[in-house]
Order: sequence, then C-alpha cells, then structure tokens
Amino acid sequence: MQRQPLPKFVDARKFVAGGMEIHATKQVAELSRFTAGLANTSGSVDVDLRFFRSEQGFKCITGTALSRVEVLCQRCMTAMPICIEAEFNLAIVWTDEQAKALPKSLDPLILGEDEDLVLADLLQDELIINTPFVSYHDDTVCQVFVPEQEVLPVEVVSDVEEGDTPFAILGQLKPRD
Ligand SMILES: [Zn+2]
Repeated sequence: MQRQPLPKFVDARKFVAGGMEIHATKQVAELSRFTAGLANTSGSVDVDLRFFRSEQGFKCITGTALSRVEVLCQRCMTAMPICIEAEFNLAIVWTDEQAKALPKSLDPLILGEDEDLVLADLLQDELIINTPFVSYHDDTVCQVFVPEQEVLPVEVVSDVEEGDTPFAILGQLKPRD
C-alpha cells in the first residue's frame, strides 16, 4: 500500500461526512512526546484511519497505528526493538456531557466546531498509553544475562546436609590409606 506522509491536521467532521480514509506514515522522530519514552528517535509509525458515520449516528474514527521503535531494556540498558500498536475507536463529540453518553465501545474525542484535529497529537497520546512501562530482552540476547552455572554453587551448598562440613565432604573424596 502506498503510504502518504501524515497530514498535520484534518477537518475531522468533514472527513466523517465524506467517508474519508487515511493511510499514512509518520517518522517517530517528529513525535517528541512519544520518543521521550524511547531509546532513540529511529523508526516510523504506519497509520490507518477510517472516518465514517455509524449506524447510531455517531461520527466515528477507527483504525490503528503501528510503530516499530526501540526502547531501553531495563536490565542491560541497551536498545531493543519492539512493536507498539495503538487502536482507535473514537467518536467526535462537542461536550463532556455528550462524551459521557457514548456507548462503552467508543472513546470520546472532544472537538470544537471549528477546531481541526491535530493527527500527531492523537497518535502520540495513544502510542504513549500503549508503551510498556518496562521492557526486557529475552534472556538469550540480553547483555547481562546471568549464565546458570554462576548460580549453581549456591544450590550445591544448600544441598549439603546438616552436620556435613566442607572437610567431611573432602574426607569422603580422599582415598583411604
Ligand atoms: Zn537487555
């Protein structure tokens, strides 16, 4: 699919009336609030949004944002690639009261009559919510993975029965005269 650069803002109600769709891409580096929680500013976000009027008459925006970015592994503090996905199930409303009256399946997007929808803001809010609080590499690739044998001696000691001193064990190993 040919993706366009994400428009800065759209007239969301007009987009709903026209049944418009957006299939766009946005560089993560341009989303400063989102990158604040990442290891670096590399990567991009693929955005797919559909504007339409639902059967119940709600002005809806649904879709997804899919980003491949890098966060810091909280164990070794080096960058690791992850996929952060956001889902949109929005209904455009004017007031808090209208927002409260929405069915549970729809999240309110409060937007004034002449207010444009700033797409980058919408995107960042949802991506930040979906960023995991902490991330860790798999044990096999993490820089500070502790090999099992380093843990073993502790277990061996705990296996020694009470009364057995290290010398007693040595005695057992020593050939008898
Ligand atoms: Zn790691």
